[in-house]
Amino acid sequence: MKKRIPFFAGNWKMNKGPSETERFVKELATAIVGDEAVFGAVKANEIEIGVFPPFVSLERAKSAIESANALISLGAQNMHWEDSGAFTGEVSGTMIKETGCQYVILGHSERRHIFGETDDMIEMKMRKAIALGIKPVLCVGETLEERDKGMTESVVEGQLKEAFKALGTPQTFEIGIVIAYEPVWAIGTGRKASDEDAQRVCAFIRSFLESNFDSHVAQAVRILYGGSVKPDNAMGLMSQQDIDGALIGGASLDVSSFIGIIKNGM
Ligand code: PEP
Repeated sequence: MKKRIPFFAGNWKMNKGPSETERFVKELATAIVGDEAVFGAVKANEIEIGVFPPFVSLERAKSAIESANALISLGAQNMHWEDSGAFTGEVSGTMIKETGCQYVILGHSERRHIFGETDDMIEMKMRKAIALGIKPVLCVGETLEERDKGMTESVVEGQLKEAFKALGTPQTFEIGIVIAYEPVWAIGTGRKASDEDAQRVCAFIRSFLESNFDSHVAQAVRILYGGSVKPDNAMGLMSQQDIDGALIGGASLDVSSFIGIIKNGM
């Protein structure tokens, strides 16, 4: 029995505007509220389910969650580190907080690789999110080239060091920081890391936390795996000692596959 509460987080990427979001949340809430035998664990706070819609859909998601009275956490997929200013096209942490977000995904590989986000930017976002009381879901992971060169651990360690460089104390983690190991080559490709490889890297992340913070932090922080998680591969991943849930892209866009992952993984 794992000590940490499993977290199944759906990263919708650039999918689902407000109307589709409302429909999805209602359907998901009905499934959760209606299936007491399976989802009683959600009510008992033994499992956490979260959705991460696009910015414009956050408010609608929040009101749909509230009116269904469902225990579904809400997060954004990104944020800026400043509260306001001349940053055309950006959305601040204060804004996503006002829409009801408890979480924010930071450092997703699509942000790093398509939009050129640097470790420095991610570090500033981490500090801001924590200062605002928003829990970061920090994504780390290596490219295929880095993996083939045997650099997985050193890349992940470098990303962690940068993200936490100004967050030096174990108290920082009390907010509930989540780390997601997402190998870049596994995201959206249908090619998931093997259970053993995913476990090895998640254990490595936990050992990083132990040596850079303390053993309490290492034992408390939830580490998710992300990259082509599907209902039929969730069980193997979730039975690994150091994997506490999944960050799910494509398969979280459909209620039945999202639910399938949760049921098979819990
Ligand atoms: C993701 O976007 O974080 C992700 C893991 O995507 P997918 O599940 O589609 O690989």
